[in-house]
Amino acid sequence: MMKPILDAHIHFDLYPSDERERMIASFADEGIQGVITVSNHLPSCKENLRLQQHAPSMIFPAYGYHPEQELPSPQDERELFQWIREHHTGMAAIGEVGLPYYMRKEHESEGRPFELQPYIDLLERFVSLAAELNKPIVLHAVYEDAETVCDLLEKHRIQKAHFHWFKGSSDTLKRLEANGFSISVTPEVVYRDKIREIVRQYPLELLMVETDGPWPFDGPYAGKRTYPCMIRDAISAIAAIQERSLEETTTILYDNTCKFYNLSF
Ligand SMILES: [Zn+2]
Repeated sequence: MMKPILDAHIHFDLYPSDERERMIASFADEGIQGVITVSNHLPSCKENLRLQQHAPSMIFPAYGYHPEQELPSPQDERELFQWIREHHTGMAAIGEVGLPYYMRKEHESEGRPFELQPYIDLLERFVSLAAELNKPIVLHAVYEDAETVCDLLEKHRIQKAHFHWFKGSSDTLKRLEANGFSISVTPEVVYRDKIREIVRQYPLELLMVETDGPWPFDGPYAGKRTYPCMIRDAISAIAAIQERSLEETTTILYDNTCKFYNLSF
C-alpha cells in the first residue's frame, strides 16, 4: 500500500482559519498524514501551538523567527526564547530560522547598507538553543548563505539540520551531504531545471518534500492556491529523476520525515 504524505515545511498559521478547517478536514481523504508548520515570530508560534492543540495528530509545530524581516528587539527576543523553552516538549523543531538573503539583496540593489552580522549572531543563538533542547533545526539559507550557516552548525556540532527549499551550488550540496544534513524540495521540482539537478545530485535518504504554503508556485501551478496535495506531483518527479519506483520513493520520503522530526504514527 502507498504510504501517506507529510508536508515537511508549511506556514499553516498563514492560511485563513476557515481555509485551515477545510484543509484539515480533507487531509485523510487526500492521503496527507500531517504537516510541519514553521513559525515566523512569537505570535506565529502561539498560533501554531493552538493549531497543534486543535489537531494534535496532524499538526507538528516548529518555533523560531523568520530571517527575512527586521530583527526582533532585545525584549522581543528574550520573550520568544523564554516562550520556546517553556513550550519545547511538543515542539517538532526550531524554525524557521536562518539568514536574510532576499532582504539583503534588495537593500544592496537599492544601494542601502545592510548589516548581516546581527542576523548571524541571532541565528547562532537559535543554533545553540536547538543543541540545548536537543531538537532538529529548520533553516532558510538559500544560495551561498548555506555556507555561513554550515559554519555555525559545524561549530555547535548540530546533526539534525533541514535546509528547506535549498537552491545552492553543487559544492555546498556536497558539504551538506558530508554533514548528513537534509534538504527539501517544493513542487518547483516538477518544472524548474535547477531544482531537478539538485535532486539528481542528492541522496534520496536525505530528501524531504514540502510546499512552503501558502507560497504560490509558477509553471503548472500558476494561479493555483498552494496545498499539501501538490506534493504528490513533486514525489512523482523525484521518483522519475532518481529512477526509482513511485512507491519506494513515497515510502523513503515519508520515513525520512518521520525520522528527522521524531514523528510516530
Ligand atoms: Zn518557509
